[in-house]
Amino acid sequence: MKIIAIGRNYVDHAKELNNAVPTKPVFFMKPETALLQKNRPFYYPDFSNDIHYEAEIVVKINKIGRYIEEEFAHRYYDEIGIGIDFTARDLQQKQKEKGLPWEVAKAFDHSAPIGSFVNLSNYTNIQDIHFSLDINGERVQNGHTKDMLFSVDKIIAYISQFVSLKIGDLIFTGTPAGVGRVKIGDILEAPIEEKNLLKFEIK
Ligand code: ZN
Repeated sequence: MKIIAIGRNYVDHAKELNNAVPTKPVFFMKPETALLQKNRPFYYPDFSNDIHYEAEIVVKINKIGRYIEEEFAHRYYDEIGIGIDFTARDLQQKQKEKGLPWEVAKAFDHSAPIGSFVNLSNYTNIQDIHFSLDINGERVQNGHTKDMLFSVDKIIAYISQFVSLKIGDLIFTGTPAGVGRVKIGDILEAPIEEKNLLKFEIK
C-alpha cells in the first residue's frame, strides 16, 4: 500500500504558512513504513527540532483504479479515518527554499499515525464532516471538509491520472489551519464528529 497526501487543501492553512493557494491539487507520498497504528506512541526523531502535527481526514481506497472520473470517484472508497501528517517543518523549510522534494520532511518512519476507520454510511456527505485535534485536552485544530479546496472526488480523479490506486491505499486529504509543534509528553486525540478515533503519546 501507499499513502498519498494532499498539501495546501485548506485555504486558511496555506495562508498560515505563507504558501500560494494552488490551482491544482498538490500531492506527495509517504511509504508504508510511515504508518503508525494501534495508538502506539510516536518517538520524537533526532533529525528535527520542529515536528509539526497536521490532522487530516484519511480516505481508504477499496477498489483498483486509474483515470477515475470525478463522478465515479465515490465508488472507490467507503471508509474514512483521521490521521496525522507529521512534518519536520525545519527540514521542509530548507527543502522549500531550495526547491527540493519534501520526502525528508514528510516520509520518515511513523510520520503517518492513523486511527480507526468508520464506514461512510455513518455520515450524510463526505464534504460535510467536522474533525479536530486536541493536544493535552486543548483543541488546537478544527476542520470541516466543506472547506477543502479540492473535494475528495476531485482529488481521486486528479491523482489517478498519474498514479494507479490500489485497495488499501490511503489518501490524506490536507490539514486545516492551526498546525504547530508537538513536544515529548503530549497526548494527541483526534475526533471525527466528536467521536475519538485516534489517541497516542509523543515519547
Ligand atoms: Zn498535510
